[in-house]
Amino acid sequence: MSDLIQLLPDSIANQIAAGEVVQRPASALKELLENAVDAGATRIQVVVKEAGKQLIQVIDNGKGMTPTDARMAFERHATSKIRSSEDLFSIRTFGFRGEALASIAAVAQVELKTRRTDDELGTLIQIEGSEVRNQEPVATGPGTSVSMKNLFYNVPARRNFLKSNPVEMRHIVEEFQRVALAYSEISFTLMQNDMEIFQLHGGKLSQRIVGLFGKNYQSQLVPCEELTPHVNVKGYIGKPESAKKTRGEQFFFVNNRFIKSSYLNHAVSNAFEGLIQPDQHPFYVLFLEIDPSHIDINVHPTKTEIKFDDERTVYAVVRAAVKQALGAHHVVPALDFSIDVNFKDKWDQDPNTKIAVDREYSYKTFNTPELKKANPSGWEKLFEGVQRTVEIEKSSNDEEETEILTFPSRANTESESKLLGSSESLENTGTTFQVENNYIVAQMSTGLLIVDQQAAHERILYERYLRQLKLAQGPSQQSLFPPVVELSQGDFELVSGLLPELHSLGFMISVFGNQAVVIQGVPADIQVRNEKELFEGLIEQFKNFKNELSLETRENLARSLARRSSLKRGQKLKDQEMETLVGQLFACQNPNYGLSGNKTFVKLDLSSIHSFFGK
Ligand code: ADP
Ligand code: MG
Repeated sequence: MSDLIQLLPDSIANQIAAGEVVQRPASALKELLENAVDAGATRIQVVVKEAGKQLIQVIDNGKGMTPTDARMAFERHATSKIRSSEDLFSIRTFGFRGEALASIAAVAQVELKTRRTDDELGTLIQIEGSEVRNQEPVATGPGTSVSMKNLFYNVPARRNFLKSNPVEMRHIVEEFQRVALAYSEISFTLMQNDMEIFQLHGGKLSQRIVGLFGKNYQSQLVPCEELTPHVNVKGYIGKPESAKKTRGEQFFFVNNRFIKSSYLNHAVSNAFEGLIQPDQHPFYVLFLEIDPSHIDINVHPTKTEIKFDDERTVYAVVRAAVKQALGAHHVVPALDFSIDVNFKDKWDQDPNTKIAVDREYSYKTFNTPELKKANPSGWEKLFEGVQRTVEIEKSSNDEEETEILTFPSRANTESESKLLGSSESLENTGTTFQVENNYIVAQMSTGLLIVDQQAAHERILYERYLRQLKLAQGPSQQSLFPPVVELSQGDFELVSGLLPELHSLGFMISVFGNQAVVIQGVPADIQVRNEKELFEGLIEQFKNFKNELSLETRENLARSLARRSSLKRGQKLKDQEMETLVGQLFACQNPNYGLSGNKTFVKLDLSSIHSFFGK
């Protein structure tokens, strides 16, 4: 009896394998675009005919190939991108399986032209159904052009399976958009049947979004950014009013790779809750950056799913990022939980003004469900009750007075905390303490947080002042005895030019005579003993920063005032103050760094603590 088992001819094996990679024109386009990106192209042109059924051509100005590489590129498992299985875990390029070109060439008629910049002549290769028909030197521009003609010409069953042109074209545009979003610095064009559909110049992500989705997005985009040690989130969300009934313009990228994740989509929807109708879908383009060792990219080439080893944290960070963006841009009114007293009064007087104070908003980065359960520590709990918020600036400046009023015996913290605990009016959980009157140590279920109090406070104030400058609505407190400040000619001119901004911050300043101003009010959240000193200090700081850093005016003012009015090293803090400070820090848009670029906090993970003891 003769043996039954035979090896399949390569051409058939290739066709079968190709089915996995190339299901439709759009999947071939995805592979070709990714190759062009991997080749370092700065300009990529796509030409499509008959929704890709007749032709998909991708022309790039990337690094090109040698004649041998050009031929090798069509072999299965031929890749220049990984050398060993270890490399699989640190993949940063798109392709890595070396299957795409081989697959495409198995089920279409392919023409490749490629030249490296320094080579005189390029290479032309024509392949049909895995068979090389022609290879010859050719005069061509630097870079690579791959044309894929008549997809599935040799697999009629599959060809018949393709959908109508509009449907296939929609898939093509989708793939194109994903790559174009991920690489906004690359110029792209897309031509269909000689009509230009997209012409996108390399630039910022926001410009790319507008280029892809239309001018009306310009006013609808809200930047979104959240940087944490575990994962970074950056990108844009659409304002609630731009939400649509159809899903669609929603994009997640992980390490620049487009992924679909209903779990993360839920995180975004959750952040939008209450702002859009349940049947509406917000726009978003969000990029997550995470150490590749924390993710498992499904190595199947057409899959867009991904697994995170700490899904919940990623969820929490995405949600916090979106909430933060919605809040920081005042899409949601009055998210700042450190509501100024003056404001509060105003609201109290007007019962018609609705304040949507979002409590969860303040949890931010560390709001993982486990954490809430395991560690209901003061600075987390504190924000559950906005009313309880203690204005840190207030008490920190009037240290002595407050002390006498509320805590006659500072030494007796034990009974104090019991008292407070039972009355529940203030939180004192004993989970934060100060080192050197300089660092705040806060306990978390996952370790210890060490916060640089001055850097943190500067960050908090800086973001607050920037916001006030943008909104031109910093609340003021009137000076009891408005001081007159004499200025040099130069300073007087400087101050005159800054009047609108100073006003936005809450300074009430009028010109008084030739070279002096009178200070009738200062920002409400600063407890000042001496308005003149504060003002002069601010101007001095402003000038320093201007010389050192040549900052933009508002940026500079916000920085200067934050620097001048922040609490300083060596200042003793009460428990509530510490907890408020930590909480406010994590409500910042960019809590990780202080104004000089130094860290505001470090986290000592339990795992590192364990490792100190060899556990
Ligand atoms: P992979 O991208 O997984 O390596 P492909 O089959 O897509 O596999 O490509 C095979 C190889 O061909 C790549 O590793 C790369 O070296 C080369 N290549 C493909 N497309 C291009 C291109 N546009 N420019 C330069 N080199 C390319
Ligand atoms: Mg590839």
